[in-house]
Amino acid sequence: MTFTSPRPRSESADVQHLVDSLEDAWRAPAIATGRLLVSGARRRADERPYLDAFLQEFGLSNQEGIALMCLAEALLRIPDDDTADRLIAEKVSSGNWDAHSGRSSSLFVNASTWGLMLTGRLVELPDEMTGDTRNWMRGLSQRMTEPVVRNALRRAMRIIGGEFVVGRSIDEALKRCASEPALALCSFDMLGEGARTDADAERYTEAYASAIEAIAAARPAGDITSLHGYHAISIKLSALDPRYSLTQRKRTLDRLLPRALELTRLAAARGLGLTIDAEEQDRLELSLELIGALARDPAMRNWPGLGLAVQAYGRRAPQVVDHVTALANELRRPLAVRLVKGAYWDSEIKRAQERGLAEYPVYTRKCSTDVAYLACARKLISAAPLVYSQFATHNAHTIGAILAIRRAAPGQPALEFQRLHGMGVLLYDEARRQITDFPPVRVYAPVGPHADLLAYLVRRLLENGANTSFVNRFMDERVSVDDVVVDPVDEIRARLKDSSLAHPRIPLPPQLFGRSRRNSSGLDFGLEHTLQNLRKICQTHPISELPPFKPPSAVAPAFEAAASAFTAWQQRSVEDRAACLERAADLLEEQRDQFLSLLVQEAGKTFSDALAEVREAADFCRYYAAEARLMLATPQRLVGPTGETNDLHLVGRGVFACISPWNFPLAIFAGQIVAALVTGNTVVAKPAETTPRVALAFAELLQHAGIPSDALKVLPMIGRDFGETALEHPALAGVVFTGSTATARWLNQKLASRQGAILPLIAETGGINAMIVDSTALPEQVVDDAITSAFGSAGQRCSALRLLCVQEDIADRIIDMLKGAIDTLVVGDPRDLAVDIGPVISLEAARQLRMHVDEMSRKGRLLKVGRLPSAQPIGYLTSIDPGRYVAPHLIELGSARDLTREAFGPVLHVVRYAAHDLPQLLADLRANGYGLTLGIQSRLEGTRHSVYALSNAGNVYVNRNMIGAVVGVQPFGGSGLSGTGPKAGGPHYLSRFVTERTLTINTTATGGNTALLSLD
Ligand SMILES: Cc1cc2nc3c(=O)[nH]c(=O)nc-3n(C[C@H](O)[C@H](O)[C@H](O)COP(=O)(O)OP(=O)(O)OC[C@H]3O[C@@H](n4cnc5c(N)ncnc54)[C@H](O)[C@@H]3O)c2cc1C
Repeated sequence: MTFTSPRPRSESADVQHLVDSLEDAWRAPAIATGRLLVSGARRRADERPYLDAFLQEFGLSNQEGIALMCLAEALLRIPDDDTADRLIAEKVSSGNWDAHSGRSSSLFVNASTWGLMLTGRLVELPDEMTGDTRNWMRGLSQRMTEPVVRNALRRAMRIIGGEFVVGRSIDEALKRCASEPALALCSFDMLGEGARTDADAERYTEAYASAIEAIAAARPAGDITSLHGYHAISIKLSALDPRYSLTQRKRTLDRLLPRALELTRLAAARGLGLTIDAEEQDRLELSLELIGALARDPAMRNWPGLGLAVQAYGRRAPQVVDHVTALANELRRPLAVRLVKGAYWDSEIKRAQERGLAEYPVYTRKCSTDVAYLACARKLISAAPLVYSQFATHNAHTIGAILAIRRAAPGQPALEFQRLHGMGVLLYDEARRQITDFPPVRVYAPVGPHADLLAYLVRRLLENGANTSFVNRFMDERVSVDDVVVDPVDEIRARLKDSSLAHPRIPLPPQLFGRSRRNSSGLDFGLEHTLQNLRKICQTHPISELPPFKPPSAVAPAFEAAASAFTAWQQRSVEDRAACLERAADLLEEQRDQFLSLLVQEAGKTFSDALAEVREAADFCRYYAAEARLMLATPQRLVGPTGETNDLHLVGRGVFACISPWNFPLAIFAGQIVAALVTGNTVVAKPAETTPRVALAFAELLQHAGIPSDALKVLPMIGRDFGETALEHPALAGVVFTGSTATARWLNQKLASRQGAILPLIAETGGINAMIVDSTALPEQVVDDAITSAFGSAGQRCSALRLLCVQEDIADRIIDMLKGAIDTLVVGDPRDLAVDIGPVISLEAARQLRMHVDEMSRKGRLLKVGRLPSAQPIGYLTSIDPGRYVAPHLIELGSARDLTREAFGPVLHVVRYAAHDLPQLLADLRANGYGLTLGIQSRLEGTRHSVYALSNAGNVYVNRNMIGAVVGVQPFGGSGLSGTGPKAGGPHYLSRFVTERTLTINTTATGGNTALLSLD
């Protein structure tokens, strides 16, 4: 039984369906119970735990909350004191700490008490600091370099962390649970980021296994409570393999599944419950396949402890619940389901926008998630006893509703509630006091060293610090109990009257750019049916033979045709020309499969790179159409003396030569051409020698979109032959070029030596792109971003990362992780969806790269070489010369100055720098003369600003990867040796394709200044 995601409907339709599925009987009791719990808890406000109070005071709505979050996230992992001091200085000085002093009655929160905590009790501070606790933060800023202050803050962060974790080790946690009644029933979670390397995965598996043993061993002798009456464990599948994703399904089944089986079998043997946590929505289908395989394992047949978390915010949650119930039915074995609302809401929204999905995978309004939660709860409760329900929530209304739904269910099935450690304590305490036979409450209990809890901590702060969060508001006396406990069905019905149930300020991904243009549409690689379609594409759209190359003699007739088409094309309205581009974008999306096939087979792109390229081409069409309307549709009326009009017109120049590269044979080819066309020019284009098919296919598409055949001539031919002839043709009005700096220089010289008008040249060339990583950066994020930036598109992007500059204090760790991550990369035929790195463009390109790495190897600089494909995958129509595969390489250099040329392939160089040498490093980077892309990984705003200011890179990316510039969002292009500008996909690009003309009319010539004379 496999889970297949339903076809997405509109959010309104989904929510309407949810509301219809719920009867009304539970609604009034839910409100009554919810209000009772909140009022009761408020009466006991002084008993609330630190964390509830902390979250209420330091939420996301104030600077101090955010500053504390930044400190908590980063401080403990910074090994060097200087950088730690800078972070403290920056974050502490950014807050108005006095404002929090005395606001909370909680000892934990009150700023003056923090002072006490930091000073008097935990560390020895000088008297003058402890004497003025009200202003302790200010005191801190003034004494920022004192080690004692740094240690005090580190200690404070550990204390905050300590509120979130139950113990640093499972033994410590179990000991604590034995003595604290509130922790009598836990599900332990071993903290950590997802695995990035196989070594990580083995370490996490081992940690889970030894935790299971320790939890089982701690069970008191003679304990006869049921499996669900004792502690359990929660595991994250992403910790068990670094490549847990649907495109890596085979690897996941080969490597992750055995690890998961080892753990579930161990839990079964020890009689413990084990829950698989729910992670990102694009892992949902794969996670259900894995859970199905675990449930079918004969070794666990009689074990009722296997469970999974279901995220109610996921629009597929009701179908997931049905699937799990059907699975339990089919196998005749009980399963446990923990129903959560979901912890990654903000990132799900962002990722869906970035990926151009048609619909969000999650709801956009909290009330919809709340209702989905209850609709799923109803299904789960009615599936008892085959399904054991575990309701994870800190929301009083949700608790009240679950109790009411259960009351109406036959036999009042057994279930439990769950809360996060440190949260919801007072609420559940109150529930137990007020409600007889309140179900058991299990605590999700994170365990791990403080340095590992940071990401977890930030997630909790984000999730609960939001002002839509129940935890954030329920103890706030300024919000009435009636406003805190509201019926989500009422809220939805009220909204239904207005219009859509989707949040109006969260536009659907296709509408991200408002009315001016539609976002290009993407694909969800987490859906099996998407991948099935992609697997067929190369067969259903085989590529044709290479077209014959044109001789140099073809150039002149092409220019003549384009020149003769110019006047008519130029006279077409801007609207007309823009509409052609928009039709082209639509056609491109309709014919996406054909273009994907071409890009994969002709250019050796992986499917995800090919998709990104099709999207970029569509974005160029729509963006330049919108820009042209803005810039050209109406002349600009200029202010002048009365009696005349002065209008500034922008018009096309003539025939542009567009010369595009093989690494973006569709997007750059398209971008250059449509920019020239929409501004009224005609074009003679020369695609790259290795990728003419995709270019010709796009040119044909443009004709179908309405571009006259003579307005665009495409000449597949040898570059030099084209350049020699085209640049001399008298009809030439400008050149757009993307490629090597050497060729750009040659073109420039050719243009300069031409007779006649001086013509514009727009050149985009290469770069020696660096990423600067200081010790505040999160190593896992650095490694993810470095791998994507350096090895995506086989490193054959001009934006690709070439030089990773890592602060020496964390370099060993980053380099180790990079080596492990390189081991997991798959090099091979890009028609295989699991492949990360396809072939480089030619045998010659591969040879050049090998020469470079051989030279580095001889110098003893080679740190790591990834794996090459062992054999050609079978079953493809054409094969790729194995010599074109280049393994990913990691090379360590002594200095940034040692990298003097662009190695255009999967080769990443790394260099260490001392924190105090950052200015020198930046000077070294500037000295290479390029200025294309730059990455910065730092939590220090000051560093980000100064690196940005001191670099000359055209595109700077902070705390993310540094490739994949989005049209109209990150206009792309550099300076110095990297290009002339203006940036492609930016608001100034079109201006380079036009010439300015003014038209001045003396309006008095025909009978006087009527406008002036008719003034009142
Ligand atoms: C024991 C336990 C285990 C957990 N395990 C997991 C897990 O495996 N996977 C996981 O993802 N989470 C997990 N969580 C985290 C859980 O998702 C959050 O704690 C939970 O969402 C908070 O819900 P609430 O009912 O306490 O609070 P509420 O304040 O009622 O709800 C907050 C939630 O509403 C949702 N939301 C907020 N704004 C919007 C919006 N505009 N549109 C749509 N929805 C919105 C989000 O899910 C947010 O977290 C677990 C929590 C607990 C207690």
